[in-house]
This record gives sequence, structure tokens and C-alpha cells, in this order.
Amino acid sequence: MSECIFCMVAKGEIPSKMVFEDDELIAFDDIAPQGPVHTLIIPKQHYANMSDDVPEELLGRLFAAASRVAQLKGIEESGYRVIVNSGADASQTVHHLHIHVIGGKPMSHGMVNFSDRS
Ligand code: AMP
Ligand code: ZN
Repeated sequence: MSECIFCMVAKGEIPSKMVFEDDELIAFDDIAPQGPVHTLIIPKQHYANMSDDVPEELLGRLFAAASRVAQLKGIEESGYRVIVNSGADASQTVHHLHIHVIGGKPMSHGMVNFSDRS
């Protein structure tokens, strides 16, 4: 999967603004941030999305890492949104499982924007 950009980030083959790393995960800032804080958390191992037989323990670690990111970024108290786009209808663009952690300013209440606005 050397053509996968997030595999390349995980291997340090392309630069990223690292937030933290452990044996299984890496957290780095999104290249096109949608808020003052926008960090991505990925497993180092390649899984395409949430439906790619991801071990439950790994999913737990990914979500636990979201609160760690919030703490490191200083948005633990102010709040943040955790988003996973999984598959075509969710407009997933990078097909290596990742969690978005977005915050740093108030967001609107809505969670879903359908492309046809229905
Ligand atoms: P998604 O739509 O959930 O697949 O989101 C993919 C995210 O990856 C987008 O927010 C992109 O801005 C971000 N992204 C793409 N390439 C990179 C990169 N090399 N480093 C950091 N973020 C990236
Ligand atoms: Zn990958």
C-alpha cells in the first residue's frame, strides 16, 4: 500500500505536523484545517475505513486518542467534534481509516450536510 498517502505519513515518507505517536497510532494536523484545531488520528496499519474488519481494541484506542489530542491542543474544556468519514456516501477522500478531531471555535449544531441539501 505504498501509494496510500496516510501509510506514507505513518512511515515518515511524507512530512506531517505530528501531534503524537505511539506504537499503533499517529496523530498529525490536517493539511487543510477546517477549524483552529484540526488533527487526524490514523492507525499505522492500513485499514480502508470503519468497515474493513478493524479490531475493536484498535477502534477504542483511536477514539481514546481523540481526547488525548484535545488535551494536547488545549480544547478539552471548550469542546471538539470527532468525525469519521467512512466510504463513498460520506465523501471519504483518503482511503486509510482516520478520525478527525476539530475544534477551537464554536460550530453549528447540525452534523450532516447532504450534497443535494435534502
Ligand atoms: P476525508 O474526507 O475524511 O477522507 O478526509 C481526508 C482529510 O485528509 C482531509 O481533511 C484532507 O485535508 C486531509 N489530508 C489529505 N492529505 C493530507 C496530508 N498529506 N497531510 C495531512 N492531511 C491530509
Ligand atoms: Zn494506508
